This record gives sequence, C-alpha cells and structure tokens, in this order.
Amino acid sequence: MNMKTNSRAIKILAAATAALVITTLVLLLTIGPWKKSTTSGKELKSGRNKETTVSSEDESDLSEESVTEPTVPEITFGESVVRTSSEEETTEPETETTEMTSETTEETTSETTSETTEETTKETTKETTEATTESTEPKETKSHSDGSYDLSGMVIVIDPGHQRHANSDTEPLAPWSDEQKAKVSAGTSGVSTGRPEYEVVLEIALKMRDYLESQGATVILTRSSNDVDISNVERAQIAVDNNADVFLRLHCDASDSSSARGIGVFVCSRGELSDYQVKWGDWLGTCLSEATGSKYRGCDASTRYSGLNWSTSVPSFLLEMGFMSNATDDELLSDPDYQHELCVGVAAFCQKMKNR
Ligand SMILES: [Zn+2]
Repeated sequence: MNMKTNSRAIKILAAATAALVITTLVLLLTIGPWKKSTTSGKELKSGRNKETTVSSEDESDLSEESVTEPTVPEITFGESVVRTSSEEETTEPETETTEMTSETTEETTSETTSETTEETTKETTKETTEATTESTEPKETKSHSDGSYDLSGMVIVIDPGHQRHANSDTEPLAPWSDEQKAKVSAGTSGVSTGRPEYEVVLEIALKMRDYLESQGATVILTRSSNDVDISNVERAQIAVDNNADVFLRLHCDASDSSSARGIGVFVCSRGELSDYQVKWGDWLGTCLSEATGSKYRGCDASTRYSGLNWSTSVPSFLLEMGFMSNATDDELLSDPDYQHELCVGVAAFCQKMKNR
C-alpha cells in the first residue's frame, strides 16, 4: 500500500512538474510574440513619422521618446512625436521663413547695397557734375552757344583782315600823324594748310557774324568777299560811321619762331578810350583763351596800326587768333570746332563789354 501510494505521489509530482514546465513554456511563448508585436506597432507608427521626413536617427529617438511619453515630464517632447508631421510642416515653413528671412535679409542687404550704390552713384554723379561744372566753368561760355548770350542792341563791326590782293598805296597812319602806311598788306599764309590769311579770317568772320547775330547782335562786316579793295583807314571808318560798340579786326599771326603759338590782342595807345583799351583787350584775350584753350599772350598797346588809330572813338581790337607759322595753330584756325570756339569767345567778350 505504501509502495503504491509513493508511486502515485511521484506520478502526481512528475505531472505537476511537467505542467509547471509547460505552463512556463507557454508563458514564455506568449510573452515573446507580445513584445514583438508591440515593437512592430511602433515601427508602423514610426513609419508614419518617416513619411514626414524624420530621419532614421530621429526614428530611433522617437521610439525611445514614445516609450517614455507617459513618464517624462517634457510632454511637449513626447507631443512633438505625435505632432511631428504638423510641427515639421510648421518647421518647414519656419525653415522657409528662415530662408525667406535670409532672402529678405539678402534683399534688404542688396537693397541697402543698391541704395548705397545709388547713393554712391548719386554722389559720384554729383561729384562728376560738380567736377564737370568746375572743369567746364570756362566752357560755360560754350553752353551759351545755344543762345544764352544777350547781345541785343549791340553793333559789332568785324573786319576780316587783308584781301586777296594787297594794296601798297599809302594812307595816313593816324589822324594825328603825317606818317604814311600801305593801305592793305598781303598778310601771311599757313605753314601747314597753305591757306592765305585773308581767306581764313573771312571764313571765321562769316561764322562769327552768324553766331553773334544769333545772340542778338547787329553785325557789320567790312568785307564779305576776298575780292575787294578796302584800305585799313576805310575799314576803321565803317566802325566809326556805324557807332560800333566793338570794332574787331580779325588776323592771324606769323613768327620766325615756328613754336610761337597763342592768341594776341593789339589796341591803340592813344585816344579817348586809351585808359580802358588794354583792360578790355585783356578781357577779349581771356575770353578767347577760355573758349579755345589756347594761350593768351597778352595785350599790346601802340600806335602802329592805322586801322586802330582811326577808330579811337570806338573800342577797337586787333585780334591775332593764332600763328599760321605754327603747324598746330594753323590747322586749328581752319578747324570748324576751333572756329566755333573763337566765335563763342568773342560772344562772351561782347557780353562783357555790353554789361560793363
Ligand atoms: Zn594780318
């Protein structure tokens, strides 16, 4: 009976042990799949997050964060997992905003730069304008070339020196003198152009007449052709008879020195206006120098010129516009631009004479 009882007890124990083992195994088997399924669920969740461009690194972080979600106080951190997509949408615009901001900054910067550039440009322009104004101060007379001189009421007599054929007959040098002088000399000719002085001065005189008339002056030429025979005293008489405000005798100079260049003025040293003639002569030379850029050589007062001596009641000037014995001057004297500058210089002078 004891043996039977013991044998049954062992069987029961063995069965209980087996049951325990089986239960344990079952439990183990049950727990294993549960864990696995949980993980896979999270993976799905992360997968959704993945769609919102969360990096794989972030994914593992998020998994950890989601596990700690209930316990970690920084719920916002956990929430960020839930709102990842929306936040990232927000973040993306923020990034865009940041980009826009940087663009804006760039724009602002570029605007500032462009403003600065504009300012710089304006300043440069201003400076340039100022510089131009400064540098063209003498040339301001040039801007008058479009009609801003007011020579209205002025009578200007212009005598283009010489003529095609010289007249060696003589006439009195001055009203106060018995000395005789040739009526009209031959004049010089261009060392480079070969042009005769009488031709060049007439060419300039015709332009000067037109120009001064365009500025309001009344202009009288002592001759408008090369084929005339008018003495120097007769030319002076035209100025006196017309009660000229200015009598201008146009000539070109010549020198033994081929390097001699520039503008010269000759006036009469006698007569009622002799106290002013040199001053006015300087005005003329200066105006011409400023208009042409040529050197003004000075004003010489004497009684050597019959054409001046006989017009002492009129402001009279013999103007040597340049040296035909110098190649550069010679070519300039036939240059239309230079000729125009001479006209402008004379206009500036006449304006000065009118305003004096
Ligand atoms: Zn001459």
